[in-house]
Amino acid sequence: MAGHLCLIKSVLNSLVIYFMYVFKMPKGVGRLLSSIQRRFLWCGCTKQRSFCKIQWRLVMREKKQGGLGVGSLISKNRALLLKWIWRLSSPGTSLWKMIISSMYNPAYENGIPIFYNQPSKIWKDIMSIVQTDVHHVFTNHCKFMVWNGSLTSFWLDNWIGDYPLKTAFARLYLLSSSKSALVADMGRWSNGIWLWSLQWRRPLFHFEQEQLSLLSSLLESKPMFCHKMDKKIWTLNSDGLFSVKSCSKMMDQLLYGGAKPFQSSVWIKLTPPKVQLFLWLLVQDKVTTRDFLFQHDYLTLQESRCAFCNKSLESLSHLFIHCHFTWNIWMKLLSNRGFCSVFSKSVDDMCCNPILDSPRFS
Ligand SMILES: [Zn+2]
Repeated sequence: MAGHLCLIKSVLNSLVIYFMYVFKMPKGVGRLLSSIQRRFLWCGCTKQRSFCKIQWRLVMREKKQGGLGVGSLISKNRALLLKWIWRLSSPGTSLWKMIISSMYNPAYENGIPIFYNQPSKIWKDIMSIVQTDVHHVFTNHCKFMVWNGSLTSFWLDNWIGDYPLKTAFARLYLLSSSKSALVADMGRWSNGIWLWSLQWRRPLFHFEQEQLSLLSSLLESKPMFCHKMDKKIWTLNSDGLFSVKSCSKMMDQLLYGGAKPFQSSVWIKLTPPKVQLFLWLLVQDKVTTRDFLFQHDYLTLQESRCAFCNKSLESLSHLFIHCHFTWNIWMKLLSNRGFCSVFSKSVDDMCCNPILDSPRFS
């Protein structure tokens, strides 16, 4: 199973990258590819129906969230396509970008292009991702570092506070006479000091003045530097650059479950992968003990007794802790390493036991 997992991650997950980089994957294709991966993981072939011990949505999760880190191809496809949006809205003079800009003349709102001309099928597919719920992953983690304000839209980009000013001060945005202006257009330099100068379509009412004072205090907290260019950063990476891996991981967390604590002792370094996978199944109570086979009608009650003592049902906790045969092994191991401790009563507790994580034990 460890070899199957390695092949899924290195081969089956990578075969379709070339197409996923440009084309949006239909959901049916995504389901078919997941089914091939699922069958290969559990029975080693792609044609037979397999008995899946653990739900595939759990297998796809990160290891620290209880999965095997396989990841979803749909999330990876979306992240690959979002990379085009990141590159299009970033400064640069690539030839492809100049062609797209001259063909569609896009405007940008918080890093997302808006095409006024009818885009091609490929760009239509890319923009359809932005219109789904997942686009929040992109907009929430795409931030603008403003220095001289020459590349950042004052109202539309998320550069100060938690939201774009268009959303945070919606009333003032409606009254602004320069809705699409850059930050650099909303003030001037005077003796090396930046002075904000906002223009309105009409004099503001009293309650609008209160909003303006809030906006002014927010703007005053932002230092400006006239010789430094603005920068767009991706907050999920320490270097500030967009990466498909971080984006697809975040999408997987949203789609297939949030952060769930998981026993780190399962993935101890230097442990052979097949042992790690066995421990992973063990913690989730999915090892095919005789008790497990009895519950699924593969064995009779008589046949499901412990192979060592033939007294109790061969359950996980009996086989790995309570059987006198196993218990003697544990006691010898603990006493050889100088431990004197009350041992765990279940396999799940056993994997959380700090003794097993200590260097003296390993
Ligand atoms: Zn036993």
